[in-house]
Amino acid sequence: MPKKLAAGNWKMNGSSASAPEVAALLPRIADVSCQVLLCPPATLVTSMKNWAGSSDLLIGGQDCHANESGAHTGDISAAMLADAGATHVILGHSERRADHGETDAMVKAKTRAAHAAGLVAIVCVGETEAERDDSRALDVVGAQIAGSLPDGVTGDSTVIAYEPVWAIGTGRTPTLEQIGEVHDFLRDTLTRQLGTEGANLRLLYGGSVKPGNAAEIFAVSNVDGALVGGASLNSSDFSGIIEAL
Ligand code: 13P
Repeated sequence: MPKKLAAGNWKMNGSSASAPEVAALLPRIADVSCQVLLCPPATLVTSMKNWAGSSDLLIGGQDCHANESGAHTGDISAAMLADAGATHVILGHSERRADHGETDAMVKAKTRAAHAAGLVAIVCVGETEAERDDSRALDVVGAQIAGSLPDGVTGDSTVIAYEPVWAIGTGRTPTLEQIGEVHDFLRDTLTRQLGTEGANLRLLYGGSVKPGNAAEIFAVSNVDGALVGGASLNSSDFSGIIEAL
């Protein structure tokens, strides 16, 4: 099993004025045993890489195009992210699926592109509130996993983030039993599909993770880290979560 992972998704937040926030994080992550990753907007990848200096802070993107280059105005490729200093890329976030109509097939093509560029793909899955109320959460994440992962996935190349759509930015989280049920299901599904690599794949939980609930979430079986939105923008909140991992 690769190291546990605490990943921050800055979404469409941050600017050159964010440097002190990152500088404040660095001493707090100097001795942790997990990997720490921040995914700023693409405009800040290079700057954040510089702010990280010689620390162990990893930098990632929030999306990439499925093609390597070409006439795709406004898009960036996985190779460009890697060139800018990224080691990871978040793919298939529910906000991209909702705002940009991303399908499982598109996420699969992007994941393939990320792997080809040497990036670790963080593939996001998760049900809406209506789907959970309809007792379809496992069916939905199962279908997303089946449709979004290309051949050749390994524990080193890919991370899965379970993010229930209704828990993102709402302050609401599933019960620990519900998180455990989905993570156990993901582990079983991936192990059946990929053998040892499925057993090695890290499964992150995301959705309203805060310093106050991180420890109990990390104690749930098959939770190997977190994908953190709002709380990752604040170095004190994010380090509180990291220290619980
Ligand atoms: P919040 O932590 O703000 O709920 O966001 C979660 C998320 O979407 C991370 O990708």
